[in-house]
Amino acid sequence: MKEAGEGKFCPFCKTKLVYEYYQYSHIGKFKCPNCNYGDNKIYKYAYNIDLNKRCFDVDGITYSIPGNNIYTIYNHLAVLAVCSLYNIDTEIVLKSFKDFSLNNGRSEEMLIKDCKSIINLAKNPTGANVSIRMLNENEDAKDLLFVLNDNIADGKDVSWIWDINFDKLNNVNRIITSGTRAYDIAIRIKVAGFDEDKIFPFLDIESALEKLYETSNTKYIIANYTALQPTRTALKRFNNQ
Ligand SMILES: [Zn+2]
Repeated sequence: MKEAGEGKFCPFCKTKLVYEYYQYSHIGKFKCPNCNYGDNKIYKYAYNIDLNKRCFDVDGITYSIPGNNIYTIYNHLAVLAVCSLYNIDTEIVLKSFKDFSLNNGRSEEMLIKDCKSIINLAKNPTGANVSIRMLNENEDAKDLLFVLNDNIADGKDVSWIWDINFDKLNNVNRIITSGTRAYDIAIRIKVAGFDEDKIFPFLDIESALEKLYETSNTKYIIANYTALQPTRTALKRFNNQ
């Protein structure tokens, strides 16, 4: 509940919502104690969620999915709910989920210089915190690259980075930063208590990637809106050098 918490208050009567459990942002099981907003009948319920095996059950059927994080489960459950309203055959849903590949920088997994590399878009504190949660759920030794731009499409104000929770990073050895605001995000991470000798800011992405791939650790790459596609392109170019 220390996160940005954009779903703290009832949109109808402004009363503080009461959460039975909480996942991220406004996602969880909540109810307004004043007007009962949120007290909805469950339409589709996912259970036996296994992030390692990348599957979950709904109505007695196991669905395999391409991602291993909680928001991928929510996204697929939403798709499944819509498909059921349109009477789309379960076999089609099963096959579509299994064959679905993400190649747009949304939890995209790449092999760069033989290193497992996961790139994820984060354009607000919620997205960044979910990315960090994914990183923390992986026990491997890791390096993190955070690419932060402040172009018009990103918003010139990057103060949202102060709502990212960098406090307890699990087995992160080094952090490389890049983008037009490489130094701002580096300072943010330093203030969170990460060893400053292990933070390496670079304005240009090529130098950042050179530094990032000096080790064979698993790589997590977080990039904001206009940083995402240039970072993906630079990664592919770097891999082919
Ligand atoms: Zn209410």
